[in-house]
Amino acid sequence: MSLSPAPAFSHHPSTARAYRCVCGAQVFFRNSACLQCGRALGFDPWLGQVLAIEPETETGLWHAAEAGGESRRYRRCDQSDSPSLCNWLVVDRPELGPAQAPCSCAACRLNRTIPDLRLSQNHEPWRKVELARRRLVSQLIGLGLPVEPRSPDGGNGGLAFDTLASMQGQPLVMTGHLMGVVTLNLAEADDAYRERIRTSMNEPYRTLLGHYRHEVGHYYWDRLVRFDQSLWDFRALFGDERQDYGAALQRHYQGVQFDWRQSHITSYACSHPWEDWAETWAHYLHMRDTLDTAVSFGLSPDRFDVDAAQYDTAVLQGGGAPGDPEGFLTMLNAWTRLTGVLNELSRSMGLQDFYPFELSQTVVRKLHFVHARVAPFERQG
Ligand SMILES: [Zn+2]
Ligand SMILES: [Zn+2]
Ligand SMILES: [Zn+2]
Repeated sequence: MSLSPAPAFSHHPSTARAYRCVCGAQVFFRNSACLQCGRALGFDPWLGQVLAIEPETETGLWHAAEAGGESRRYRRCDQSDSPSLCNWLVVDRPELGPAQAPCSCAACRLNRTIPDLRLSQNHEPWRKVELARRRLVSQLIGLGLPVEPRSPDGGNGGLAFDTLASMQGQPLVMTGHLMGVVTLNLAEADDAYRERIRTSMNEPYRTLLGHYRHEVGHYYWDRLVRFDQSLWDFRALFGDERQDYGAALQRHYQGVQFDWRQSHITSYACSHPWEDWAETWAHYLHMRDTLDTAVSFGLSPDRFDVDAAQYDTAVLQGGGAPGDPEGFLTMLNAWTRLTGVLNELSRSMGLQDFYPFELSQTVVRKLHFVHARVAPFERQG
């Protein structure tokens, strides 16, 4: 069998990450006004764009400042005045009537429990948490993945977020996922707290966005793998998830006994096949978003003068599911080139490596398994 090398990288970002106001100024994902011309800005998650918007005096709605013909009409998210400073837009849907029309955006609508915002000490951490969560949700939508708010009993298979601050005398809030509900301990927004835990757990990397990508991975395992025919391939690659979860975690915290780098992306991924999936899923989202950002700003990893590991289809042998191997390998090869250069840039500044991970062949196959689950959702073009 002949091996086909991956084609050159010409990547259309699934989530654009560079934006411009109609006045020409660069604007950013979190901005709600242009610093150059003063126009209001809002993020339309379905277009994946930060738009300059203009108010309509009669209706109280907004529309894009430079839109032709049938432009969408928007409301600003009702959390735009909250400490989270949400800048997302809600598409106006007059057919729903005033009682049904959503007031919160596609990201804020997923919040089930939020911290007590009467306490001013919660404002800054909440703003950080929400910025990370909006980044997550924008990527999920960009990839075309299902993102619906969870019904109260969870029967619709939707997603919800609880963000909780630990209270004195109460059990510690555990970051995790259960039946469509992702819980985050608000303390994770505190850099000193998070760094202390990272060091004590010997982790190379710990961020709010990483937490969200990991936890939402558990949710998508339930949706994309659990009842899917790919479950057999999953077990062949990641192991049998029916093994006792509690016992597996307990064993993990007693110490990892083998060289996990040969088969897992992080040491935590060895604890249980579910955690392996969630770590690999999070890693895949890191790769996609970072490459989308690089390409959005005009970087072409193909043109970098760097010797980085390059893969052809041989690496996927025994990797189970088919699923767009060429697209995956093209992305992967661009990724190794990009991170090769980014690590050198970090070293030039005396910083820790930007990308402190190694990709073994087994990890590459696991990433391809994730890619094969996500690819069918991606929008065409
Ligand atoms: Zn402007
Ligand atoms: Zn919002
Ligand atoms: Zn987990």
